[in-house]
Amino acid sequence: MAVVLDPQLKRALAERIRFYNELGIYDFYRRGPSESNLITPDAETQLEQREEMTPRANAAVEEDSSRLAKPELNVTDPVQALRLIREDLGDCTRCVLHKQGRKQIVFGVGNAKADLMFIGEAPGADEDMQGEPFVGRAGQLLNNMIKAMGLRREDVYIANIIKCRPPGNRTPEREECETCSPFLMRQIAAIKPKALVALGAVAAKTLLAINAPMTEFRGRWFDFRGTKLAVTYHPAFLLRDPRQKKETWKDLQKVMKELGLAIPAKGVE
Ligand code: URA
Repeated sequence: MAVVLDPQLKRALAERIRFYNELGIYDFYRRGPSESNLITPDAETQLEQREEMTPRANAAVEEDSSRLAKPELNVTDPVQALRLIREDLGDCTRCVLHKQGRKQIVFGVGNAKADLMFIGEAPGADEDMQGEPFVGRAGQLLNNMIKAMGLRREDVYIANIIKCRPPGNRTPEREECETCSPFLMRQIAAIKPKALVALGAVAAKTLLAINAPMTEFRGRWFDFRGTKLAVTYHPAFLLRDPRQKKETWKDLQKVMKELGLAIPAKGVE
């Protein structure tokens, strides 16, 4: 039987879920009434169980190469390879987002020969308007993170799991990630960075096909098809909780060490 929630409780729950989403937590598990702490005050303990994602989600990452002709396959110049991938993407209508108000496709930006690649979740309003990832407030913070590493924005490559803005900046649907992420995989294969940094849990979960909380993603290296992958907080989350910048700086220092970059004393501002 459907439970009718008190409007005040409903509002509080919506607010709490929004907060968790910003922490990068999107999957919630319903417990029976005997375990009535359905939503606990501690976001991280809520979802401590780590589970492999379903085979359907794995399919997002294990792209179906038989369905995808890859014109860039024998192209060694990454600039040219990225151009071919962009052409292949075209004026994409592969998922519902093309008819849900996107202004343009946000392909990716930066150095095609970058050692370091940042991967976010999805374009927001500013990105949709300008056709470039991370140009809004979160983008300013990402720029600061890059600068703190002693790099310039144009030294790295920046892209998202999906290339079109979801309406109202909602979390991308699994289907959208599955449809779009093969193009990102091809961008990664063309650029061949030394390290990948997934920004937030959506990027981490999609790339690694692991459903786990940020606590399990951070502080370690993952292997992504032979490339090292680290996970840190999404800049949009850091805007909400600047205290976590210290933690982010730790993550970035690990990446810098891997790339052989000198570590300055100053962190992310
Ligand atoms: N958030 C993202 O994940 N990507 C962007 O490009 C902008 C904001």
